[in-house]
Amino acid sequence: MLSSEHLSILSPANGESIVWLQVGELIDGQSAEPLKNAHIVYSSTEILYIGNNELPPPREIVVGKTRPDLILSEYTMLPGLIEAHAHLFLEGSELNLQKRKEYLTLPQDQLLTKARQRLSGLLRFGITAIRDAGDRNKVGLTLSSEYKSESKKTMPYLDSPGAAIHHKGRYGSFMSDPIEEFATPEACVESRIKDGADRIKLISTGIIDFEKGQVTSKPQMSAEEVKSLVQAAKKQNRQSFAHASGSDGIENVIMGKVDSIEHGFFMTDNQLLKLRDNNIAWVPTLTPIQKQIEHAGRLGWNDKTVDHLKRIIDTHKKSLLKASEHGVIIIAGSDAGSYAVSHGVGFFDELELMEDAGLPCIHVINSATGISAQRLRFSDSIGHLKKGAKARFIFTQHSPMQTVKNLKKEKNVFFDGQFFLSANSSVTS
Ligand SMILES: [Zn+2]
Repeated sequence: MLSSEHLSILSPANGESIVWLQVGELIDGQSAEPLKNAHIVYSSTEILYIGNNELPPPREIVVGKTRPDLILSEYTMLPGLIEAHAHLFLEGSELNLQKRKEYLTLPQDQLLTKARQRLSGLLRFGITAIRDAGDRNKVGLTLSSEYKSESKKTMPYLDSPGAAIHHKGRYGSFMSDPIEEFATPEACVESRIKDGADRIKLISTGIIDFEKGQVTSKPQMSAEEVKSLVQAAKKQNRQSFAHASGSDGIENVIMGKVDSIEHGFFMTDNQLLKLRDNNIAWVPTLTPIQKQIEHAGRLGWNDKTVDHLKRIIDTHKKSLLKASEHGVIIIAGSDAGSYAVSHGVGFFDELELMEDAGLPCIHVINSATGISAQRLRFSDSIGHLKKGAKARFIFTQHSPMQTVKNLKKEKNVFFDGQFFLSANSSVTS
């Protein structure tokens, strides 16, 4: 944890001064190895220079300075984290099923107020950007426009698809509006964009029937339908992401060429190769299944169902490892807001599960920062420690290169000129 003396050196006065720092380990969000004893120069708003031990900043960048303002050799520095699949309008930590149901009936303004609090609370976890995965109450759209507005306060980056698109009577009505409201897929996409959608979310399949241990329903969307929605989104310069589980439904979204597949349970090995070859990213969201196992008693799952859940998550982890070995673009997202997946801690749970699956720590961290930013093309320069990126980063004495579990431990978060202390969050759930 940084001392107050350190913090005052590390906080540049607004827009006027710069800080030249040397740090023991620097993870830039993209490289396969951290930089050792790296130099970083930043202002309150952006990063001006990154270089390794042998490459100190040139004079014109550090005018008047001959050595770093501070050397933090015991510290690791990494970009602010990106949670790429969260439902800000849902309270993940609520375990009572009845209360979860009632929660969805709250008036729009109350849902928004609660989501706004959740979002600003994420800064303390070092989560500085969210790709919201959809709600039908304009919660995500409002927060996204608040972020973009001139008068924005200190809040994480957020973008939103607004209401996801699903089929009337099929899964997803709590976060989606039906495509049947429109004459054509193009008109549906156009209407979402008119509402302010930053990207387009498709609910292309149902969900897993845990008691049966498989996806039993037919896909909601055909390959043709996915394709027309994706094309319509592309025409308006928007990415599309698809909720898809079960190999038939996954095949349809691969053929429809979505930008990323969310969940992707029961993905076949052959489909992993198709993801790689078609440049489709995968957000595996392991945490919701893990939480079903942890809370099996409360949820009333019998041994057989728990066995299914364990098999599903084991297979999913194996697929994830294969995907990483094949070079599939993997992006970290927890599905926070789902049952027992709390905003903030749930994201760290996801990173731990990715490490458990066998991904090297650096790959997990890059999936939660630079790889995510590069693939999802956020409108701000975030997720990287590189020249021109926003000055949003984490300082920690507990290197996540040893285990990403260390990201739960206390750390300091720097965000646009302000410091936040992030307490140890490994004891709460
Ligand atoms: Zn989701």
